[in-house]
Amino acid sequence: PTDLNQLADEYLRLAYHGLRAKNKAFNATITTFFDPAVGSIEAVSQDLGRVLLNLFTNAFYAVQKRQEAAGAGFVPTVSVATRRNAQGDIEIRVQDNGTGIPEDVRQKIFQPFFTTKPTGEGTGLGLSLSYDIVTKGHGGTIEVESAAGQGTEFIITLPA
Ligand code: ADP
Ligand code: MG
Repeated sequence: PTDLNQLADEYLRLAYHGLRAKNKAFNATITTFFDPAVGSIEAVSQDLGRVLLNLFTNAFYAVQKRQEAAGAGFVPTVSVATRRNAQGDIEIRVQDNGTGIPEDVRQKIFQPFFTTKPTGEGTGLGLSLSYDIVTKGHGGTIEVESAAGQGTEFIITLPA
């Protein structure tokens, strides 16, 4: 039994503070909605935590990069929401207003070792591992919607 809302909250803090430890000037607006109806779910919490940490780290990286290009006036924002939908399934949404993912790149992001980050900043394993953990490990799905230059949303669905 895993308290998904608590897990997401913990890893969101970890990702944000991890980034701020390296870049003290970085600030982001973070919004969360943790649906109490999600409650305790059946999951391998260590694995799911790893998935969440990577999604959050990717989101903060993307908003930071966009801010570097956009400069003052841009408000980096990461939003995390959980919900139990009408079918009883669990949804986790991670949304950012970062650099976004161009269509040609989007087709490769779940491949092992695919990264657009410089050496030392990314291994390209996060999403490929996440895909396996969510689909094979938990019988769920992971989807992405993105607009290049505007932002990205990852949606994980876990069966009731
Ligand atoms: P890594 O973070 O080590 O690069 P991932 O598997 O986590 O590896 O992500 C693969 C690639 O997908 C990233 O290098 C990046 O190009 C793209 N990506 C993932 N999440 C986002 C996001 N939120 N915004 C923009 N690009 C993203
Ligand atoms: Mg990553």
